[in-house]
Amino acid sequence: MKKQSVAPSLKFDTKWSYAPAPESADHIQLKSQYELFINGKFVVPSSGKYFDTINPATEKKIALVADANAADVDKAVKAARSAYDKTWSKMPAAERGKYLFRIARILQEKAREIAIIESIDGGKPIRESRDMDIPLAAAHFFYYAGWADKMEYAFPGRTVKPLGVAGQIIPWNFPLLMAAWKIAPALAAGNTVVLKPAETTPLTALKLAEIFQEADLPPGVVNIITGAGATGAAIVNHPGIDKIAFTGSTDVGKIIQKALAGTDKKYTLELGGKAANIIFEDAAIDQAVEGIVNGIFFNQGHVCCAGSRLFVQENIADLVLRKLKDRIETLIVGDPLDKNTDIGAINSKEQLNKIKSLVKAGINEGGECWQSSCAVPSKGYWYRPTLFTKVAQSSSIVQKEIFGPVLAIQTFRTVEEVIEKANNTPFGLSGGIWTDKGSKIFKVSSKLRAGVIWANTYNKFDPTSPFGGYKESGMGREGGLHGLQPYIDFN
Ligand code: NAP
Ligand code: MG
Repeated sequence: MKKQSVAPSLKFDTKWSYAPAPESADHIQLKSQYELFINGKFVVPSSGKYFDTINPATEKKIALVADANAADVDKAVKAARSAYDKTWSKMPAAERGKYLFRIARILQEKAREIAIIESIDGGKPIRESRDMDIPLAAAHFFYYAGWADKMEYAFPGRTVKPLGVAGQIIPWNFPLLMAAWKIAPALAAGNTVVLKPAETTPLTALKLAEIFQEADLPPGVVNIITGAGATGAAIVNHPGIDKIAFTGSTDVGKIIQKALAGTDKKYTLELGGKAANIIFEDAAIDQAVEGIVNGIFFNQGHVCCAGSRLFVQENIADLVLRKLKDRIETLIVGDPLDKNTDIGAINSKEQLNKIKSLVKAGINEGGECWQSSCAVPSKGYWYRPTLFTKVAQSSSIVQKEIFGPVLAIQTFRTVEEVIEKANNTPFGLSGGIWTDKGSKIFKVSSKLRAGVIWANTYNKFDPTSPFGGYKESGMGREGGLHGLQPYIDFN
């Protein structure tokens, strides 16, 4: 292989700095206290307890949120059962579809407000919540609205029926989008729902509850109950639930799988990842570098399918590393509401500590760590974009999901070698291939043991595409027609 020459690294002493361009948050409507959304109404929790949701960029409290206990979960499940038996499963499918269309449209109308709330509650840059999370959430409601009265075309020759009450538990990295991924197909197929958002990002799910009220969704069809892990466990273990849809960590996924073993509840699990982004010597290098940066630093690396491992063909390794560092030096870390921000706040102090301890372990194991020299605000939770080189296949930085802006870089010589290395983790959620050769894309993608493979792009999502993992990345698929199947039974 011919070695490419490497120009000296660019110096950024004269780096451009942008004037602040904060999104105005004056018009958003937030209450100081949120109750549980059960049977179409906001009701106080049986425990009388509340927890704070904070803004991770300022560490300031945004609102108090109700903490649901097992009695509240029971109320929510009963409301969902009654709505299923009396209303939702009896309604003509086309009418169900109309509700979903209505929800999608209201979501679009309120997109600006909800994007700001998503960024305040979770720390993600407004550019992402505005351009990706909220539009995609609305797109999922539109997409599944269209299927509601066309199930005989979705599953030709089969008669389908809904399962009943779905218990849905979601994480903090794409709060509203994960809610839409789960609620839209469940309702389209005729099920009712009890959903629990993550403790650190409950606000957009509660705004969605207000949208359900505005859309006149019949009471009990969707119930939103807030709380921590114990609330999630109460949903999993409630005997009135017919199906569990969980997105979150592999560790909690395993606990749920054990709890459900031996019951007749159906379940889907969307869990962690450690995706390989593979760049071959014939790739368009600048595009690949941009895609790799997007793949791992997008949403602070809080992405299950983040391209957190990079495999570079050996003869272009120096060139790619230099270009990567140059590009990373230009990334802006800071105020999530500023439209220039590339990397927002880490979602919680707990997550920040987890990232720090995994990076420390990587250094102790002999990895070489490089970080951007960018400034970070003094208050709030921040982590500079970080690269690791000289890492072994067995090192924790290569094997463990970090869920932060940290990229582990390894080199390879042959296609066979990189396939073997890329497959060598417990996960199998996603991957990326960068090459000029279509044949190489087909060869490598067919051998990677991962559910989603992007070629010459990364982190692209669409409601029509199924998404889900192999191995410890989970079971079942969400999105597309595949995403309807976990919510139906065949007669
Ligand atoms: P997590 O700790 O597993 O939490 C996920 C959800 O489960 C939260 O709502 C959590 O509540 C709840 N929970 C915690 N313990 C529970 C229990 N024993 N029983 C039932 N529910 C319980 O995950 P996370 O840290 O929020 O999210 C990050 C993880 O999600 C990463 O591993 C990421 O890869 C994965 N993820 C996967 C996908 C995918 O599609 N495959 C998509 C996004 C994220 P609290 O938050 O209140 O504790
Ligand atoms: Mg929060």
